[in-house]
Amino acid sequence: MNYVQLRSFDNYIEANIVLNMLQHANINCYLKDEHIITIDPLLSPALGGIKLMVHTEHVERAWDLIDKAEEQYLKSIPCPICKAHALKSVSVTKTYKCKLSALISMLLNGQSVEITKMYQCSACGYDFKELPHGN
Ligand SMILES: [Zn+2]
Repeated sequence: MNYVQLRSFDNYIEANIVLNMLQHANINCYLKDEHIITIDPLLSPALGGIKLMVHTEHVERAWDLIDKAEEQYLKSIPCPICKAHALKSVSVTKTYKCKLSALISMLLNGQSVEITKMYQCSACGYDFKELPHGN
C-alpha cells in the first residue's frame, strides 16, 4: 500500500480540479470511487465521497499545495461581515494537536485522520464553518 487518502470530496468537479492541480505539480495521485459516485451520486455519503489518494512520498508536498490553493481561493472571497479579503482556514484535527503529528500518523497507519475545517476572518475575527457563497 503506497497510497494514502489525503482527503475526500462530495463533489466530482472539485475533486478533479484538485487532482489536476496535483498532477501538474508531478504528484503521483488518483481518485478512488470516482466512477461509482459519478454514476450514482446517492452512493457518495455511504462510500465516504470521492477519495483523493496520494503516493506516500508526495503526501507532504500535496498537502502544502492544497493549502496554498485554498489560501488563494479564500483571498478571493470577501468576509460576509466586514467585507475584508482576509479569510483563512483553520484546521481542527479531532485526535491530533498539529498537522505534523496527523501527517505522521497517516503515513504510519495508512489512513487519514478526521480534520474539521473552520474559516476565520482575520480582520474582524468572525468564525464560520461553511464558506460564504459570495460572488
Ligand atoms: Zn471580517
